[in-house]
Amino acid sequence: MKVKGLAALSAGASFTPFEFERRSLGSNDVGFKITHAGICHSDIHQVREEWGPAIFPMVPGHEIVGIVTEIGSSVSKFKIGDRIGVGVFIDSCRKCEPCKSGLQQYCDEGMTGTYNGMERDGKTVAFGGYSNGFVIDQDYAVTIPANLDMAGVAPLLCAGITLFSPIKHFKVGPGMKVAVMGLGGLGHMGVKFAAAMGAEVTVLSHSANKRADALAMGAADFQVIKDPEDLKPLARKFDLILNTVSAMVDVNAYLGTLKIDGTLVVIGLPDAPYKVSAGAMLNGRKSLTGSMIGGMPELQEMLDFAGKHNIVSDVEVISADYVDKAYERTVASDVKYRFVIDASTI
Ligand code: NAP
Ligand code: ZN
Ligand code: ZN
Repeated sequence: MKVKGLAALSAGASFTPFEFERRSLGSNDVGFKITHAGICHSDIHQVREEWGPAIFPMVPGHEIVGIVTEIGSSVSKFKIGDRIGVGVFIDSCRKCEPCKSGLQQYCDEGMTGTYNGMERDGKTVAFGGYSNGFVIDQDYAVTIPANLDMAGVAPLLCAGITLFSPIKHFKVGPGMKVAVMGLGGLGHMGVKFAAAMGAEVTVLSHSANKRADALAMGAADFQVIKDPEDLKPLARKFDLILNTVSAMVDVNAYLGTLKIDGTLVVIGLPDAPYKVSAGAMLNGRKSLTGSMIGGMPELQEMLDFAGKHNIVSDVEVISADYVDKAYERTVASDVKYRFVIDASTI
């Protein structure tokens, strides 16, 4: 399948039109026309090699939605015309315990990323969703609920599932006080899902101008945090903190805002290790943990939940020539609240 895409040809380069070939349809494969692809901060980290050496040319994009155009001979899950989504991985070993239990993101052999890696044949470079066509094994694709807007649903394929998964795992519900650090693409989905589950949500943000939006999304409180001192009045307040900040933060100061036995979940992935003091963990038996996206069954469960509760991302739909600018604005925390590329402009 010949497709058009947008590629960074080298680390940190601006985007340029790039034509390439997707694999021809296998019996278990689905071909689809991409309608929208979200811009995740992980795309930016990888294009800029903030996580180490990357593969170029790179076509990023792992928040992909579209319409099925072709199906292989053994495809049963989709038919032509269906709304389909692909997230952060396109395959995994399928044999290990995590894969068999639906936790493909934690595959023992490593999940096969949607881009910036090799497909499972070990020789084909995987190209992501900043493009107009895709081929995916049906087992690694999900169905988009009919009532949800396609542009608004695209970010759910990474930002949505990445917050839904820890929110489910830590049994967020009525009576719980949950803090979301950073109101960006991931954070705003955390607010919507945690509020929908019945928790009392506080946003901890360094951008004072996001207050009204946070409250409209379902947050009960919004605190501007510019300095660790600003956290002192919030001592021992939260059961759970979801840290979605893309930059380095003083985790110790945030641990102080947890109740006894509270948990801080690391979700943001800055380019350097956090410094954690033993004292901040010991005083109150705090837990510091992490969470990475979600598995295939949970991805579908999240979309079905979103369909039922009418939850989508707040998006700014952009055309292909705006992606470089969108990267700059995302890094400057100036996104309301996810940029989504209209793939028809590629
Ligand atoms: P984003 O849209 O850029 O949001 C990040 C937010 O962090 C910003 O909106 C801002 O919120 C806050 N922030 C940014 N720089 C800051 C600074 N210098 N000091 C304090 N706060 C700052 O990014 P995203 O797409 O949501 O991704 C967030 C992080 O999660 C990235 O590191 C990404 O790679 C990672 N990620 C992890 C997973 C996973 O599976 N764990 C999945 C996807 C992405 P305020 O303006 O409200 O302060
Ligand atoms: Zn992502
Ligand atoms: Zn596996």
